[in-house]
Amino acid sequence: MKKLLFLFDTDPVPSVFDTVVGYDGGADSVTGYAGVTPENVGALIDGCIYTRGGKDKQNTAIFVGGGNMAKGEELYETVKKHFFGPFRVSVMLDSNGSNTTAAAGVALLAKGRDLKGKKAVVLAGTGPVGMRAAGFFGMEGCDVTITSRTKERAEQAAEVIAKRFGISVSGAAGATDEERTEAVKDANIVYSAGAIGVQLLPKSAWENNPNIELLADVNAQPPMGIEGVEAMDKGKDYDGKIAYGALGIGGLKLKLHRECITKMFESSEGTYDAEEIYALAKEMA
Ligand code: NAP
Repeated sequence: MKKLLFLFDTDPVPSVFDTVVGYDGGADSVTGYAGVTPENVGALIDGCIYTRGGKDKQNTAIFVGGGNMAKGEELYETVKKHFFGPFRVSVMLDSNGSNTTAAAGVALLAKGRDLKGKKAVVLAGTGPVGMRAAGFFGMEGCDVTITSRTKERAEQAAEVIAKRFGISVSGAAGATDEERTEAVKDANIVYSAGAIGVQLLPKSAWENNPNIELLADVNAQPPMGIEGVEAMDKGKDYDGKIAYGALGIGGLKLKLHRECITKMFESSEGTYDAEEIYALAKEMA
């Protein structure tokens, strides 16, 4: 029986990235639907849950993606609520690679280390990846702060993350190099999660900062998010500060994304959101 993966994408065009990784994760066919909303998803879910019976159902799976985390989360919840009894298939949420990218980055930082009690600052932590990374740091017992170009947006996103993960998160202003330097002054961990091709932290903010122990940057396009941290860095030691760049994290991110797809076809009951994906990332890191 063919393994069918259905992408429910909240964007106007379904993601090519998620399509390719769907095949690489073991799907025989990947079908992307664009502009999927809680209002129009019902018939799509019915097509997944009523067409195959018993164990055959595990050969159908749903991936919820798109660029908007809040829309993705709402759609993911709608899909799960639609299931009942045996009428369900495995489902994964990874809007903009949020869960897999953030989980890979934080899991690499946490590998062999206890992050409990460390101060973690997620720069530009209002996007899908940053919001998930902040949640994972909270799960590790860190004291978490996110920055944004406006303090108000940082505080709003901090509230959403705090509610989602049952943790406490602070929001700080981060519109300029000076504000971001101030935000990381007492940090032990800096995780840069800004938009592609945007530098957020000058080298002078971290190279002589005695508090900073770990650095991670998920932006792969120059200029790098953290000046002086290279895309290929994977545990590189900069005078006692350990750094991971976007490609250093990206390898695990891709393996993790593929593994989640593979696992979805092993049962019809899998749900893969932040907690499940982070647990898997920690096993794989
Ligand atoms: P995003 O939503 O595009 O951006 C994150 C935040 O960056 C935004 O919420 C915004 O925060 C801030 N920002 C936007 N433009 C800015 C500018 N010109 N100057 C300063 N800040 C700016 O990002 P995302 O989807 O969460 O992804 C985060 C990063 O991960 C991206 O660089 C993406 O390319 C990368 N990524 C990497 C991988 C990998 O495997 N390495 C996989 C997926 C994604 P405020 O408006 O609140 O300031």
